[in-house]
Amino acid sequence: MSIDLHTHSTASDGTVPPADLMAAAPAAGVSVIALTDHDSTGGWDEAATALPPGLTLVPGAEISCRYPVPVAGGGTTRVAVHLLALLFDRAEPAFAAARESLRVSRSSRGRRIVGRLQQAGYDVDWARVRALAAGAPVGRPHLARALVEIGAVRDVPEAFVRLLESTGPYYEPKADLDAVHAIEMVRAAGGVPVLAHPFAHRRGPCVDRAAVAVMRDAGLLGIEVDHPDHDPTARADAAAIAGTLGLIGTGSSDYHGTNKPTALGIETTAPAAYHRIVDAAGGARPITAIACRP
Ligand code: AMP
Ligand code: ZN
Ligand code: FE
Ligand code: FE
Repeated sequence: MSIDLHTHSTASDGTVPPADLMAAAPAAGVSVIALTDHDSTGGWDEAATALPPGLTLVPGAEISCRYPVPVAGGGTTRVAVHLLALLFDRAEPAFAAARESLRVSRSSRGRRIVGRLQQAGYDVDWARVRALAAGAPVGRPHLARALVEIGAVRDVPEAFVRLLESTGPYYEPKADLDAVHAIEMVRAAGGVPVLAHPFAHRRGPCVDRAAVAVMRDAGLLGIEVDHPDHDPTARADAAAIAGTLGLIGTGSSDYHGTNKPTALGIETTAPAAYHRIVDAAGGARPITAIACRP
């Protein structure tokens, strides 16, 4: 039983459609897969309909959040936090409205980044970016692909390094939710909140143990331990915090198709941790296709 609890499809910024992702899971050795597109449940139905026999789908989403961290000399800085929401009720109105507002603001933010690139002479077209997103919430990987198409960069990673990194001149932040508020909303929708890649330092500033404790007190139930962007120290820290705070430690690939080098099922969650997540969920159930006899 190989359990991958964090993947993306074309319903956000992955390159593989939900149905194809489900079809590919068994060959990757995956028997339980969570579909966690950014701020969206748009891939759930296609994935559920396409489940091959024996594969279990855990419906989910990855929510863009920030957590305020005090800075020396006073004030706070808001550190980016990604929150996995698993097995929630997608019809619960407050959380559904919050996801909708995140998706809407991704559009205006993407358009602003395109404007900055155009001012700098890059002939990138907003209509083309929207076409590449094909109805999904717009993310920087869509901008990256548009930049590849016009020959401004060779590939998606180069687009990030040269033009799209959050420290670069063309970057615009996206809208986000306060992490504690998001955790409360996920719980109110019957879902299981799991802190995604908390110590992926390569991506930027990270929260610390005290912040994770506050989030646990607000209802956080899990923390990603094994993630491609976690080095051995990050994994050890996350596992130690999971033990101390009683959080469920998970592992996952954060698969994005060809937008990232990570293979499906490359990191996995232990069955006992998965069962704790299912037991804690009250908003949706895992979906398994049963083989039909002719
Ligand atoms: P956004 O949500 O629009 O800010 O874009 C973030 C997405 O870009 C995430 O899904 C990341 O996986 C992806 N991403 C961030 N940095 C890189 C990078 N250096 N190379 C490829 N993809 C990246
Ligand atoms: Zn992504
Ligand atoms: Fe993430
Ligand atoms: Fe992700």
